[in-house]
Amino acid sequence: MTIEPKPYFHELSQTEVDQLIQEKTTWEMVMDRYAQPDWCVYQDALSGIYGCWTLTDLSPTSNRSQVSPTGICKLCDDCKPKYESRPEISQ
Ligand SMILES: [Zn+2]
Repeated sequence: MTIEPKPYFHELSQTEVDQLIQEKTTWEMVMDRYAQPDWCVYQDALSGIYGCWTLTDLSPTSNRSQVSPTGICKLCDDCKPKYESRPEISQ
């Protein structure tokens, strides 16, 4: 049996996110179904208001939708020190 890797929550389209909101999906279900990127060091980043605010911002103009492979979590308090301590990767 192969275990499918979980899709990244921040890679969902806004339409998909709106769908989840409509279905009244809880953050618990989100944490169960989706993966947190490894560049975000926030514990349980996908746990809604207790998580990483970059990754759990659901608005259309959110930081989530602008997340790059290098990680916009450089803006979030927990990830900032980690981000700043590593060399810049060009996009
Ligand atoms: Zn983060």
